[in-house]
Amino acid sequence: MQINTAQLLKQAIGSNRSYEINDMFIADDERESGECHIQGTVELIRTDRGILVQGKLAGTSNIMCSRCLTMFDYPLSFGMEDEFFPSRDVTSGISLSLPDDSTTFMIDEYHILDLSEAIRQYVLITIPMKPLCHPDCAGLCPNCGSNLNQNACYCDSQPQESPLGNLLRKGK
Ligand SMILES: [Zn+2]
Ligand SMILES: [Zn+2]
Repeated sequence: MQINTAQLLKQAIGSNRSYEINDMFIADDERESGECHIQGTVELIRTDRGILVQGKLAGTSNIMCSRCLTMFDYPLSFGMEDEFFPSRDVTSGISLSLPDDSTTFMIDEYHILDLSEAIRQYVLITIPMKPLCHPDCAGLCPNCGSNLNQNACYCDSQPQESPLGNLLRKGK
């Protein structure tokens, strides 16, 4: 997801170019987000300060269901709009100071604009705090641990003795 912006930075304000995105990446966080696949089109627009990136992206992220703990593909769809600031002037080669803002995205000194971190942040915002593989996911049986989406257990109709309970009774 790296785009060379040297040509666009030399153009007039308002100049723009479109790029197709079709990429896999890993959006790791505590929700065990796995592999993401992102597709879409972004438009890069030359602004007075840098380059504005606008686009609509969609794809999937392989994440773990918070209820039954199986991995599933969560559908992603989001719009992005971020301004990227050059760290070096494209014509003079002089290093530029960046806006004093920790959320600022940079274009590196070789004029490469890397969309990965911005897209990773959108993905992490899009994924719910407690993702569900299905709105009515049945989850795991708290007694025997079987996945109730795949097979019903008989814990409710026939309460089963725990192995410890059996041992204690045999010992009497
Ligand atoms: Zn589930
Ligand atoms: Zn059970």
